[in-house]
Amino acid sequence: MRDLALLPKAHLHLHFTGSMRVSTLAELADAAGVRLPAALLDGDPLRVPANERGWFRFQRLYDAARSVVRSEETMRRIVAEAAADDAAEGSGRLEIQVDPTSYAPYVGGLTPALEIVLDAARRASAATGIEVAVIVASSRMRHPLEARTLARLAARHAGTGPGEVVGFGLSNDERRGETAEFAPAFAIARRAGLASVPHGGELLGPAHVEDVLGHLRPDRLGHGVRSAEDPRVLDRVVSEGVALEVCPASNVSLGVYPEANHVPLRTLVEAGATVALGADDPLLFGSRLVHQYETARDVLGFSDADVAELARGSINASRASGGTKQTLLAGVDAWLAPA
Ligand SMILES: [Zn+2]
Repeated sequence: MRDLALLPKAHLHLHFTGSMRVSTLAELADAAGVRLPAALLDGDPLRVPANERGWFRFQRLYDAARSVVRSEETMRRIVAEAAADDAAEGSGRLEIQVDPTSYAPYVGGLTPALEIVLDAARRASAATGIEVAVIVASSRMRHPLEARTLARLAARHAGTGPGEVVGFGLSNDERRGETAEFAPAFAIARRAGLASVPHGGELLGPAHVEDVLGHLRPDRLGHGVRSAEDPRVLDRVVSEGVALEVCPASNVSLGVYPEANHVPLRTLVEAGATVALGADDPLLFGSRLVHQYETARDVLGFSDADVAELARGSINASRASGGTKQTLLAGVDAWLAPA
């Protein structure tokens, strides 16, 4: 059995607060005198009966975690630890997703909030040897005009390397807000050369995937797993070259699928989709990046060659430079080569 932690890969779906270690959250809450829901600290926050899972429980726990992130120092620590954890799992390229809006009040505004994350990403890259780039995520819960403000801010820091903004996202409850109203923000981001990486096709099905494809022209779709429910939509995803950031633990924790063996990873791959596995919110879903690859191999029956192909998909779908991609892809070949 090859060690999946040694398989070179890129991590394209990880949220800033959701990346936090449980131990860090506990320490921060203690220091701030904040009492967190016990569910956040018991190591398995969403492990409840399927009929009690779901978005609202997730959102409440996420908000509680976010409430302890109130300083520049904490923000820097989160990025540094996310990078260290990714490095330990064979990730050579992390594109971490942050909505600076929630942290702006504590650090003097949106611009400093983003600049802190970018600087922390640069430093984390130097410290760990992996590239840490940033995706600015707007939120469906806020006014689309705020998304435009964020897109303009993201555009000013556009690039491909460590500590630069590589993409623009749209996160939070997929059932809220009008997708079409966020199109102008994505147009701003696209003009600046940023990847379009909205969420879609997890809490809603193929019809919403088509909405997102039509209005936001994604390069990658956060989740997109439910494209599998309509072969025509899945064909469109494939023919438009949209990569899917698939996060099996998230799907199961949110009750989208009852168990990991229902995640339609095989259907997506067999249709020709490029897939990049991601952990989404390890703090809440209780598992990090390598676990998603373990799910593919141990639960869904992917061979080592198949998981190597998933790793290649993640690398190719990243916004890393050609040189970085080549290095990581060569590492995948070496991992797969007979010992
Ligand atoms: Zn997500």
